Amino acid sequence: MTENLVSELDRVVSRATSAHSVWGGSVAVERSRGLHAAAQALRVESTRLAELIAAETKKTVKEAQGELANACNLLDFFAGTALRPIGDTFPSNRAGVTVYTRRFPLGVVGVITPWNFPANMAILKVAPAIAAGNAVVIKPSEFVQQSTAAIADVLAPHFPHGLIASVGGSVEVGKALVAHPEISAVAFTGSTAVGREIAAAAASRGIPALCEMGGKNCITVTESAEFAKSVDAVLTSAFSMNGQKCTAAANVFVSTQVYDAFKETLLARLPNWADEQREMLGEDFIETGLVDQAAWDRVKTVVAQSKGSNALVTYPSDGVIDRNTPVVLEDVTPQMPVYREEVFGPVISLIRYESLSDVIAEINSLEYGLVASIYTKDLPEALSFSESVEAGTVLVNQPTTGLDFNIPFVGWKASGFGPSEQADDAVKAYTREKTIYLS
Ligand code: NAD
Repeated sequence: MTENLVSELDRVVSRATSAHSVWGGSVAVERSRGLHAAAQALRVESTRLAELIAAETKKTVKEAQGELANACNLLDFFAGTALRPIGDTFPSNRAGVTVYTRRFPLGVVGVITPWNFPANMAILKVAPAIAAGNAVVIKPSEFVQQSTAAIADVLAPHFPHGLIASVGGSVEVGKALVAHPEISAVAFTGSTAVGREIAAAAASRGIPALCEMGGKNCITVTESAEFAKSVDAVLTSAFSMNGQKCTAAANVFVSTQVYDAFKETLLARLPNWADEQREMLGEDFIETGLVDQAAWDRVKTVVAQSKGSNALVTYPSDGVIDRNTPVVLEDVTPQMPVYREEVFGPVISLIRYESLSDVIAEINSLEYGLVASIYTKDLPEALSFSESVEAGTVLVNQPTTGLDFNIPFVGWKASGFGPSEQADDAVKAYTREKTIYLS
C-alpha cells in the first residue's frame, strides 16, 4: 500500500475516532433524528445514485432504485431502534441491590462491503452501528468505489464531521483497515474465503467481527408444489441479476414424481426470460450483466468441468453457453464442484429426488447454510423441512431472493460468522455490555 493511502486511511480513521467521542455520548433521539434525516437525504438523491450504482454493478437503474429504497427503509428502521430499550434488570441475590445491564458503543467500526449491493450492504451495517453510537469507515469493493463514496457523502452531513466516511476500494486498504489500531470492530459482507481471513485477522487483534458470506442456496419442489409459482420462484431466485446475489438459488431438487413436467415448464419459460426481465426492469436490462470477465470465466469453467464429468447442459438446448443465457444442468452429482461451490452466476442444477429426508441430508451436507426454500402444500412436510434444514433463513412457498429488511438475517456454517443482521438485535452486535450492581 502506498504511503499516500496509509496516511489517507490514518486521517479518515482519526476523524472517525474524534467524531465517535462526540456521537458516543449523544442522546438516543439525536441519533434517531440523524438516521431519519439521512434516510430522507438518500431518498432525495436516489435518482442520481441509482445511475451510479447501475453503471458500476451492471444492474438496471430500476434495480438500483429498489436497492436504494431498501437502504432508506433500513435507515428509518434503525432510527426507530435507536429509541428502544437496550439492557435488562435482574433480581439480585444480595439484599437491597439492583442489578442492571447497559450497552456501550464499540468505537470506530470498519465496514467492508462486496460489489453487488453497494447501498444495501453498506447501510445494513452503517445504520445499526450509528444507531448504537459508533463511527464507521466503509471500505467498498473496488467495483463500487464511486457509488459508495457518493452514498457516504449524502449520509455524512447528518452526523458529526467524520462519523461516516468511505475509503478507497483496494484489498490492501481492506487489510489495513482491519489491522488499524483505532478500529474496534469489523463488519464484512463478501465471499467465505475473505470473510474467514478477516475474522481471523480481527481475532488476532481481539476485536469482534461480523461476517456475512457466500451461499449455495437450494429450492426444493415437492410433488404437491404449486407449479407455476415454483417455476417463477426458480427463475427469479436463480437468474435475476444473473445469479449474482448471495441468496441466489443454485441447486433445485425436484420430486421424481413431477420432475419431467417441472422441467418442461421451466424450459418453456427460459427463451422468454430476458424479454420478461426487460419488460419488468426497463430497457437498460443487460443480458451480459455479469460483473466482469472473471465472473464469466468462472461460469464457463464450472460448466465445462461439469460437462467433463458427464453432466448435461439442458439449457441452452444446443449445449453451447454464451454470456446472454441462463444455464440449466442435469445429471449433476454431489461430487461435482457445481453441486457444492458457489458459482455466483446464472447456473442451476436440476436434481431429482425420491424422498424429502434425502434432500434435507443433501442440503445439510453442503458447506454453506444461507437460504433454503421449499414449495409444498403439505404443512407437516413444510414444518419438517423448516426445522431440519441447516440454513439461517428458510422459506416456504417463497423464492430465495428478496428478503425483508426488518427480519433477522444470518448465515449458518460457511455462510456466516457472528451475530445476525437487520432486526433490532443487530444493534447489539455494535455494542459491548456492562453489568452494574447498584445499592
Ligand atoms: P469478495 O469477498 O471478493 O470482496 C468483498 C470485500 O472484501 C471487497 O471490498 C474486497 O475488496 C474486500 N477484501 C478482499 N480481501 C480482503 C482482505 N484480505 N482483507 C480485507 N478486505 C478484503 O466479494 P465480492 O466478489 O465483492 O462479492 C461477492 C461475494 O459476496 C459472494 O460470495 C456473495 O455470496 C457474497 N455476498 C454475501 C452476502 C450475504 O449477506 N451473505 C450478500 C452479498 C454478497
